[in-house]
Amino acid sequence: MSRTVYVNGNYLPEENATVSIFDRGFLFADGVYEVTAVLDGKLVDYAGHTTRLERSLGELKMEMPISQEELLEVHRELIKRNNLNEGAIYLQITRGAADRDFVFPKDAEQTIVLFTQAKPLSAPKTGIRIISAPDIRWGRRDIKTVQLLAPSMTKMIAKAEGKDDAWMVQDGFVTEGTSSNAYIVTKDGKIVTRNLSNSILHGITRAAVLKLATELDMEIEERPFTIEEAQQAAEAFATAATAFVNPIIEIDNVELSGGTPGPVVTRLSKIYLEESRKAAM
Ligand code: PMP
Repeated sequence: MSRTVYVNGNYLPEENATVSIFDRGFLFADGVYEVTAVLDGKLVDYAGHTTRLERSLGELKMEMPISQEELLEVHRELIKRNNLNEGAIYLQITRGAADRDFVFPKDAEQTIVLFTQAKPLSAPKTGIRIISAPDIRWGRRDIKTVQLLAPSMTKMIAKAEGKDDAWMVQDGFVTEGTSSNAYIVTKDGKIVTRNLSNSILHGITRAAVLKLATELDMEIEERPFTIEEAQQAAEAFATAATAFVNPIIEIDNVELSGGTPGPVVTRLSKIYLEESRKAAM
């Protein structure tokens, strides 16, 4: 069945939705995006995603082309029109269409697109196997731009090796997953995840999970770690809006926590899901 999508103020069947070939999102990857999870037809961590969206736009000297009230209304309308119970809403804003030039256009009208993706998010997780790979992305990974070719290529390297994903490594330290933040749990129960900087995306799920972990009196260390440290850790996991807390059971062919999700990850995963359901709006 065809989805109803949103493009520049209009709700349309997906096959009738178009943007210009001159759109700078298409020509320069000059755009930003957000992905918000939907549970029970409600938005998870919505405020966090819109706050990061405004920051990403600001860093690229772009405006917010829609009011906050309208944006929430569009999210809710898409959930309703597409009967979405569980899945995600993808949102993209670009600088708009203009004749091709490296200089930012002065009067281009921004493009805004939203669509839904139905997918099961809350099913129990069995854990994923990952490899390490060089981080070949640009220097402003804190901005959530649509230039996703590097992580896409990196994920394909993992797939070619029969694995699920990759953790990217720069100067000997893990930055993050191709589309997730990366964590280990040390043998004495500390959660270690890379500190925020321009080297990683400031994950909304990361912020929510670290807050929960703090409330649960878990110890957190925000610092870089190596693949070797991760392979010797008690547990490892990744977080992302549509993956929630995702256990990692193998890193570069070294099995972790006996090849099944460990107790800390299992607990965090369960609590994050419960709390997200409660707080979804
Ligand atoms: N890092 C990268 C590179 C990502 O692409 C994502 C997901 N888009 C994340 C981290 C996780 O961020 P969030 O929890 O906000 O989905």
